[in-house]
Amino acid sequence: MSIQENLEAVHSRIADAEKVSGREPGSATLVAVSKTWPVEVIQEAVAAGQKVFGENKVQEILAKVPAMVDDLEWHLIGHLQKNKTRKILPLCASIHSLDSIELAQQMNRIAGELEMKAKVLVQVNVSGDEAKFGFSPEAAREHWESLLGLEHLKIGGLMTVPAFNPDPEVVRPDFARLRELRDALVVEFGATLPELSMGMSHDFAVAIEEGASLVRVGSSIFGKRDYGTT
Ligand SMILES: *Cc1c(COP(=O)(O)O)cnc(C)c1O
Repeated sequence: MSIQENLEAVHSRIADAEKVSGREPGSATLVAVSKTWPVEVIQEAVAAGQKVFGENKVQEILAKVPAMVDDLEWHLIGHLQKNKTRKILPLCASIHSLDSIELAQQMNRIAGELEMKAKVLVQVNVSGDEAKFGFSPEAAREHWESLLGLEHLKIGGLMTVPAFNPDPEVVRPDFARLRELRDALVVEFGATLPELSMGMSHDFAVAIEEGASLVRVGSSIFGKRDYGTT
């Protein structure tokens, strides 16, 4: 299968999931996760019409963005070290991995210095997996007021990476928990939080049924990653 065929297959599964859950066609956006893949491979996806890409490492975004056409959107989906904030902010349409108050404060300060508003999603560790980054749901609520006070951040919603399970039905309650937390924050703080970034290659259909607005799909588009070459 070519990248174009893979993209078509993913789009059709997205459309099916939107349909079965009674959602608007096109209400879930595909973020093509191009981590570890070289620009020549990403170009194929661009040629097939894909414009939104996700990367989990700052260095990869720094290397790839200048080599690609500039009407693409780059989303950072992996943990961001505070000292890399200044480099990455101007290049990213969205940072899905705002995972601590310290990072939020640093990002707010630097976005202010750069005279920009940083578009972010707050990462929540809904499955309580200790190996995962993110606020616990309780901590997210507790800190929400202070996050809202950071005037150079535009918080668009929430993101989660649940504990891995090959069976999407096992993960479904985690996706539902992220949606419920979002709904609660909207009621409690009057916030507008349209974005829910959740779902990967093996479980994006279930994530869409549970309300995902952004699905992060890598291997179903590009194939299996070889981490040895990065
Ligand atoms: C790599 C990655 C993905 C994509 O995973 P696939 O299983 O290849 O679709 C999604 N989200 C995050 C945070 C990732 O690091």
